[in-house]
Amino acid sequence: MKEVKEPSRKSWIYYYAIVMVIIILLNAFVFPLFSGVRVHDTDYGTFMTMIEKGDIGRVEIQSNQILFTDKAEKSVYRTGPVSDPTLAQRLHDAGAVFAGEIVTQSSPILSFIMSWIFPIALFALLGQFFSKKLSRMMKDSGGSMAFGMGNSGAKVYVPSSSGISFDDVAGEDEAKELLSEIVDFLHDPKKYREIGAKLPKGALLVGPPGTGKTLLAKAVAGEAEVPFFSISGSEFVEMFVGRGAAKVRDLFKQANEKAPCIVFIDEIDTIGKKRDGSMGGNDEREQTLNQLLTEMDGFDGSKGVVVLAATNRPDSLDPALLRPGRFDRRIPVELPDLKGRVDILKVHASKIKTEDNIDFEPIARVAAGASGAELANIVNEAALRAVRDGRQKATATDLMESVEVVIAGYQKKSRVLSDEEKKTVAYHEIGHALVAAMQTHSAPVQKITIIPRTSGALGYTLQVDEGDKFLMDKNELLDKIATFAGGRAAEELVFGVATTGASNDIEQATKLARAMVSRFGMTEEFGMVALETVSNQYLGGDASLACSPETQTAMDKKVMEIIAAQHQKAIDILRANMDKLHELSSFLYEKETITGEEFMEILNN
Ligand code: ADP
Ligand code: MG
Ligand code: ZN
Repeated sequence: MKEVKEPSRKSWIYYYAIVMVIIILLNAFVFPLFSGVRVHDTDYGTFMTMIEKGDIGRVEIQSNQILFTDKAEKSVYRTGPVSDPTLAQRLHDAGAVFAGEIVTQSSPILSFIMSWIFPIALFALLGQFFSKKLSRMMKDSGGSMAFGMGNSGAKVYVPSSSGISFDDVAGEDEAKELLSEIVDFLHDPKKYREIGAKLPKGALLVGPPGTGKTLLAKAVAGEAEVPFFSISGSEFVEMFVGRGAAKVRDLFKQANEKAPCIVFIDEIDTIGKKRDGSMGGNDEREQTLNQLLTEMDGFDGSKGVVVLAATNRPDSLDPALLRPGRFDRRIPVELPDLKGRVDILKVHASKIKTEDNIDFEPIARVAAGASGAELANIVNEAALRAVRDGRQKATATDLMESVEVVIAGYQKKSRVLSDEEKKTVAYHEIGHALVAAMQTHSAPVQKITIIPRTSGALGYTLQVDEGDKFLMDKNELLDKIATFAGGRAAEELVFGVATTGASNDIEQATKLARAMVSRFGMTEEFGMVALETVSNQYLGGDASLACSPETQTAMDKKVMEIIAAQHQKAIDILRANMDKLHELSSFLYEKETITGEEFMEILNN
């Protein structure tokens, strides 16, 4: 189900305008035809002729017109008055009856129908036609109708056949399981009520950006055939104090009326931040949060209102929001593992044209650490690449190349390195690869390239683990730092001078070494003490210091020691394999991109 905005105000204005025009036209032209006996306009001459023939039934002389009928009183005629003093006498002679009124009105029932029932029916018909057309338009644009609801601004979705279901969400099996229980409850609450079980009032989806939290919530909407109110936390934030709270109130009022239903608050951290006295506080936000807390207490869970919320900053949420009775169920939506990545790639690849029998596993393996959104992007990049090359279908190569695009940016053809620079980059990358290959705890090298990328990388070495890695031991971390140092070490050994090319390596090596000391407790000096704490684990994980300045100084020293040792180890490894370093580097310099197999072949020769 795609998100669809409420039908635009414009279309309703059109609707009213069209109805008004039609009614005016009907009143002017059509109703007169029905609303009475037809009146024939005639000239005065005809009138006189009819008088002479005595063919006049009833006649009524008004100041601005003369109405008359024929003898049989079948038709009514009208003519303009002419100054004719003998008219009355002649009419009398012709046997006309001076009627008080000639009925130009039809029966009162008919006129009632015409002037009341007919327009109302017309309104209703047009309205129906319009809403049908609108909903078809909505469907065409790929989703179901969503109406703007009251003041809350929440969109309510009606599940439609084209909606998103759990099948569209690959991996995330645990999250799906927890959510399908909620769906099941909404379908058959009796089953739960009989045993006395209460379902959680609220469930909080937490996880890094792009892992499919919003997607999962929409899938719940598609699966549970109940109304689904969707609103983003930021929509509660208003310029005027009190408006946010009013919106919350409104939202829950509607939800209670429509129960059983689901309320989904995306990015709830916008309003759910911890309330703290500092910084002057934010009255508006706190009021909104308080209202939310009150409302979540207020509604009866057994009635079938389930509140879903999503956030990637669970640690910043107010504890009151997380206590039992509110968002008491926490549903982690983590980065996908290898199998999850394969499944996500498959789901998205099925939406584009690909060659048959693509093996997604190697692609998923290279894309370690990628989120669902990134994988979706990778598939789309592959399709774009196929189009760019004028092909009908995306291939496995397209996918593999797109992974690199997402990791390292596009190939930068315009950047021309000088010969000397290119040589330096070749040695640098082989330095990484060689150090990695000579250590036992390093992931195998998959690809080495010295084609510059738009991300600024002049080259890179792709190392890919065999499977998923959930734990890393101290040796692996140290080897990793040594591998990072390998690039710089090669430059120093061959050219005897450092370049700027290693800045990113240095940054990453330092981060690792620091974490080993301050968070992983991997040094004897500091032991198992947390010297730093991580906040925002899903958003980069900033570490903040939790130790005295003296300890920090000692810690910095230890970090330097670790890196220096690994740098030395890299130099030693390369020095022992100097001929291989030269051979591999000139091979890479020639070919610009080499595979892991080519690399190993030369190495083992
Ligand atoms: P967030 O967790 O930040 O809310 P979204 O749910 O908005 O992430 O995901 C963004 C996009 O990434 C989705 O529209 C979908 O295309 C893709 N995506 C993310 N996770 C998955 C998944 N598990 N399966 C399939 N597609 C996914
Ligand atoms: Mg989201
Ligand atoms: Zn490097």
